Order: sequence, then C-alpha cells, then structure tokens
Amino acid sequence: MSQRWVIASSNHHKVKEFQQILEPLGVHLVTPSELNLSLEVEETGETFAANAELKARAWAAATGLPAVADDSGLEIDALGGAPGVYSARYAGPLAGDSANNARMVRDLQALGLTGSTARYRCAIALVDTTRTPDLVMVDGCLEGHVVTSAAGAGGFGYDPYFVMPDGRHLAQWTADEKNAVSHRGQALRALLKALA
Ligand code: IMP
Repeated sequence: MSQRWVIASSNHHKVKEFQQILEPLGVHLVTPSELNLSLEVEETGETFAANAELKARAWAAATGLPAVADDSGLEIDALGGAPGVYSARYAGPLAGDSANNARMVRDLQALGLTGSTARYRCAIALVDTTRTPDLVMVDGCLEGHVVTSAAGAGGFGYDPYFVMPDGRHLAQWTADEKNAVSHRGQALRALLKALA
C-alpha cells in the first residue's frame, strides 16, 4: 500500500533523490507546491538535527501527513566549524552559491590559508504521529578538504571547492558517484534502515 508523506522541500533534485531511496518503503512523496501550501519555517536551531526537526514538525502539523525534512551544510575546521547551519546564508540572507563561496575563500585567505579539513553534514527528520516515538532522526557525514580554488561544473553549493580524498573536487564527480557517498545519501540510507 502506498503511503503519502510530505517533503519539506521543493528542490527538484532533492525530492528525486529522496523519492528514489524511499520507493522500497512504498512511500510517495508530495511537495509543498503539489499541496498548494507554503510555510515559512524559521531555521532557528543551532544544529542540523534541530533545524530538520523544526521543519518536519511544522509540515506534519500543517498537513496531517508524515513529514520528512533535511538540513545540511559544510563545517570548515579552520573556521571553527563555520558556516555550519548558516551554510545557505553565509554571505547574507539572500546570498546565492557564488556569494557564499566567495565569502568562504575570503575567510580562509584572511587567515593566510589555501585550504582546510572540512566535512558536509546532513540530518534528516521524519515526524509521523502514528509512530511512537513520533520522531525518527538520522544523519550522515562526508569528510574532505576545502580549498580556495574551484574546479568542476557538477554538484551545487560548495562542491567546486570541496576536495575528495581522491584529489578530485566534488563538482568533478558524477551525480551517481556523489549520491553513493554523500552526507545526504548516507542519511537517507540510514532512514531506510531505521524504518525497515
Ligand atoms: P539546505 O540543507 O538545503 O538548507 O542546504 C544548506 C546549504 O549547505 C546549501 O545551500 C549549500 O550551501 C550547503 N550544502 C549542503 N549540502 C551540500 C552539498 O552536497 N554540496 C554543496 N553544498 C552543500
């Protein structure tokens, strides 16, 4: 029997990746735009998990459906873990990827650095009031380096500056290569396992 869940995102790539992984559970994801609903959930949490839970709870309450939400970002060791939960708005509330990347490069250069160890993290929360407890929380982490020079045209966000252990920038990896190891892929597979 197919189950309807709402996903707290309208990002086409994210919805597709989640749908693919959750398919075996008989889950059909609906997006806020398919429901004609919009909800501004302020991401006031200090952790990825707290923000994922805030979003999932808000969407479950608004729709009465099980709700899945993720929150992710980049932690750079030389910057004390920044941008962390502020990754999407590092250069300001309306900043896009290129402004955020430019700020990261500037901040590293201001310390006289050309790189640092770093990691992507992702937390995924499922809120389903028919379950006890009603919250399932999982996470994933991808270790690497960031550098101040970009390479590659794939991926998004900080991927042109994120170097994998094989020396290639994440933006030079194919989507399938990235999904197989990414923080989000790991968290999604952990969710599947937690619900099996
Ligand atoms: P959100 O979880 O969709 O709010 O994304 C948080 C931000 O973290 C994104 O806007 C990107 O800047 C960054 N981010 C998260 N995951 C990735 C990734 O896989 N590659 C590059 N940047 C990412």
